Amino acid sequence: MPDDQLVGAVGSLPRWVYSIGLRTRFRGLTRREGMLLRGPAGWGEWSPFVEYDARESANWFAATLEACFEGFPAAVRTVIPVNVTVPAVAPEAAQRIVSASACRTAKVKVAEQGQTLDDDINRVAAVRQAIGRDGTVRVDANGAWSVEQGLQAVRALSRFDLEYVEQPCRTVEELAELRRLLARQHLDVAIAADESIRRTGDPQRVRELAAADIAVLKVQPLGGVRRCLEVAEQLGLPVVVSSALETSVGISMGLALAAALPELPFACGLNTVRLFDADVTDDPLVESGGVIRVRSVTPESDAEQRLAADEQTAQRWDARLLEVCHLAGHPDRKPT
Ligand SMILES: [Mg+2]
Repeated sequence: MPDDQLVGAVGSLPRWVYSIGLRTRFRGLTRREGMLLRGPAGWGEWSPFVEYDARESANWFAATLEACFEGFPAAVRTVIPVNVTVPAVAPEAAQRIVSASACRTAKVKVAEQGQTLDDDINRVAAVRQAIGRDGTVRVDANGAWSVEQGLQAVRALSRFDLEYVEQPCRTVEELAELRRLLARQHLDVAIAADESIRRTGDPQRVRELAAADIAVLKVQPLGGVRRCLEVAEQLGLPVVVSSALETSVGISMGLALAAALPELPFACGLNTVRLFDADVTDDPLVESGGVIRVRSVTPESDAEQRLAADEQTAQRWDARLLEVCHLAGHPDRKPT
């Protein structure tokens, strides 16, 4: 679509910018901002992190356009098992979070800046105890470890019977090396790739280097549900669908992917609305009995009044939106 047509089509959509507090510092953030837009096919969320440039934010926007103008592919399931997410909190708090949830899989943040491997060990131990021996525990390092640190950490944490370790190191090459070293030392812990798939611009490299056992796919960063289905097919790896820390509108986009995948062998990371201190709907997409039912979401009529960002923030998002629309109309053009 030429960019003036896209700007016109998007410009005419009802939209607003939210700013919502997080209960616990997550990914270094204490608030989350994003834009919600209503198109002919439904509501879409556009919430690239504020530090992302126009090119990266344009991928996220492709997902928003899909939600607003196309809707989603046919679902093959209606109920999605999800994990409880445990931020980098103290063991007692971690235990409380897991005990308060019906989820049978817990995903624990590790390798937080300013913390030690002992902090991770204590947190994962508390989670394993809370979820019981028949529960499932996975950890996410967000690429913070070197190969050597990753090896040491996985060796220490493997006694808690990990389902997988997500993005232990930053680069695809490091993931591949760690995966080889783990196999050589008979440490039977799977590796999941997250940032390596959504931020490198080359998801296939994970496959080429045999860098992971599992692919974590996120709808907004990868450019939509259909695009994720293509990536999943090309990768040929089992998929975990995760959120990008979104309101229930964004979560509904992730659920659409989880519902459409031919196979879904693991619990998904879509139960993250509780990390927010408010949501755009009174009936948020959060787990009940360890699952979330697939459905669309319409923000409450008073949501904008309650959760709208200030004028300056809204203007900043409108400027980002314009930049991304121009880029989407001319994918070869560098943003100015
Ligand atoms: Mg992750």
